Amino acid sequence: MLKDLFINSSILISFLFLGGEIFKDTTLSPSAPLKIRVFGGIVSGLLGSILMIFSVRISPEIVLDLRHFAIIIVAIYGGLSSSIITALIIAAFRIYYFPIGSLSITAGSIIVLLGIISGLISQLNTSQKRKWLYMNIVNMAIISTDLLLAAKENDLVLESTIYFIMMSIITGLLVYHFSNYITVSNSLYKKFKIEATQDFLTGLNNVRSFDNKLNDMITKLDKNKEDLSIIILDIDHFKRINDTYGHVAGDYVLKELAKVLSSSCRDLDIVSRTGGEEFCILLPDCPNKKAIAVAERIRTNVEKHQFVLSDQQKINITVSLGITTYPDKTTNLNSIVEEADYALYQAKQTGRNRVCTG
Ligand code: GH3
Ligand code: MG
Ligand code: MG
Repeated sequence: MLKDLFINSSILISFLFLGGEIFKDTTLSPSAPLKIRVFGGIVSGLLGSILMIFSVRISPEIVLDLRHFAIIIVAIYGGLSSSIITALIIAAFRIYYFPIGSLSITAGSIIVLLGIISGLISQLNTSQKRKWLYMNIVNMAIISTDLLLAAKENDLVLESTIYFIMMSIITGLLVYHFSNYITVSNSLYKKFKIEATQDFLTGLNNVRSFDNKLNDMITKLDKNKEDLSIIILDIDHFKRINDTYGHVAGDYVLKELAKVLSSSCRDLDIVSRTGGEEFCILLPDCPNKKAIAVAERIRTNVEKHQFVLSDQQKINITVSLGITTYPDKTTNLNSIVEEADYALYQAKQTGRNRVCTG
């Protein structure tokens, strides 16, 4: 018994980790796109079928396995549609793999029933823990009843049912533990991945992501045909905003400014927050004249925008912008940021709230 339990649990746990890896970036959930849920259903159907191949034959009529866990797992993560697909695949495999007879038709029908019930339980408005519990109880109850009814003449039937329940409880606890572990690791992985590239306050690219994107652009740039412009923008006298209205208001201004910048640029432009109150915009395929027009549009959009603070006070800010363009203004791509920064310095020196180009 222990040997079979070990094999079946190992298959299940390996599939859990495989599923965790497959659905690392595109999470399987009841609200995921249909193709993801169908795919989840197919992968789990495969798991159920493999579990059947490694079944435990107790007597000529009694075969035990843990296929119902394939349904429970997919119902928890993918919901009703995924669990029905899994159940149909397992039922089809059951009928194909074992000799056709009334037993395999009944087994197939029961597995479809389990798929539907587990899928419906997944829709209950309760915690994941309770859903796991309810699904396990219902699955165990239905399969045990079927075992008792289907092989009532057999001496081994009671023993097999107890064996099945014990296997299900032990494996259920293992599966619950490992699937929670995988869910937590995957969500941490996603969180860290986002945090590594995104500025936490504004949601724009952070400075590391900006560097990567700029390097990518420089590498891929067709140096004979394409232009590349860069705008560096800094809020004028931002310290005064913090000093007058507080740091929270300052943070709000930064968030709101990020929205104004994003809406003032083209979709292909890359907006990043590269410092406290400093932003950088990469404008691929944009000659200097066009970049000046974009910068001027940003400057006036910011100047006109009213920032409404939490106490309903309305404030205005201005920004200074420095630009440079390859190849119109500089032929040295490696110093493009420094040159835009120098143009920004000139904008600050000559009175702020203006655009200067290198
Ligand atoms: P200038 O026109 O010369 O740029 O003046 P400035 O006051 O904007 O520039 P300065 O460099 O003297 O001050 C920048 C201020 O930005 C100081 C700092 O407190 C503030 N700051 C930097 N990061 C954040 C942030 O994340 N939140 C808030 N609220 N303030 C920030
Ligand atoms: Mg400033
Ligand atoms: Mg600054």
